Amino acid sequence: MSAIAIDLPDDVVAARDGIVAFAEQEVIPRHQRNYELFENPRALYREDGRFSDALIELIREVRVASAEAGFYQMCVPEALGGGGLGHLAYYVAWQELFHRCGPRYRLMLYALAHWAFGPSRLLEQVTPEARERIMPGLMGINSAMLLDQGHAAVKELSMTKAYSVQVGFRAVDRAMQTHGAKGFTNELGLTEAWHALRIVNVADGTNEILNRTVVGRLLKGDLDL
Ligand SMILES: Cc1cc2nc3c(=O)[nH]c(=O)nc-3n(C[C@H](O)[C@H](O)[C@H](O)COP(=O)(O)OP(=O)(O)OC[C@H]3O[C@@H](n4cnc5c(N)ncnc54)[C@H](O)[C@@H]3O)c2cc1C
Repeated sequence: MSAIAIDLPDDVVAARDGIVAFAEQEVIPRHQRNYELFENPRALYREDGRFSDALIELIREVRVASAEAGFYQMCVPEALGGGGLGHLAYYVAWQELFHRCGPRYRLMLYALAHWAFGPSRLLEQVTPEARERIMPGLMGINSAMLLDQGHAAVKELSMTKAYSVQVGFRAVDRAMQTHGAKGFTNELGLTEAWHALRIVNVADGTNEILNRTVVGRLLKGDLDL
């Protein structure tokens, strides 16, 4: 039986070696310094099953340190502000991280954004209109999944609501334009749809407030996509 030999691109090798060095300098020492915390489930989790404040703070520290070192978003598409190294770098980096650090260093999970698990490749290829049809549903499912897992999902819910309402506006606007003057009549119900969206855009948080919430969470180190 023979293995498949592929030559890794230089930038993938550099990213792999860099993030392993990062883990050795920033992740493993944090585990050693916080040995008692990681050995005690009562200190790691609250009674409702959510992560404790101490664990959340350590995760935040690792994410911010990784972002500052340029690793955290390295596999996220450039169009979204990432390094654009893609899935190959992601899996090569993870393989090496687990090989060197082993699964017991759980903070290591937060050294790299888990972009590869999303439907990112599909969303990059489809038209902006198709993306707008797909995204609100996916964002809603993602928020529901996080809530089910005991996470607060504050950033995700804020993004979902703000984005979905804007997508709805654009859809109704396009439909009105397509129908011409008929778009304003009571035959199609588009003006009612627009009015309903206008109300939802204020109720349960205006977009400005939701955007502030998202930025606030990002600045606190809640960088997961
Ligand atoms: C149909 C409907 C149902 C509602 N139901 C409920 C309910 O059940 N329970 C409840 O408690 N409330 C309810 N509300 C109230 C709703 O939550 C508020 O209307 C909403 O949060 C906006 O607050 P406001 O009306 O005081 O507007 P303001 O806060 O005065 O906002 C006015 C404008 O200023 C902007 N703005 C405000 N602060 C900032 C800032 N810091 N930076 C940038 N821009 C800013 C806003 O985005 C907005 O465009 C409901 C509202 C509606 C329309």
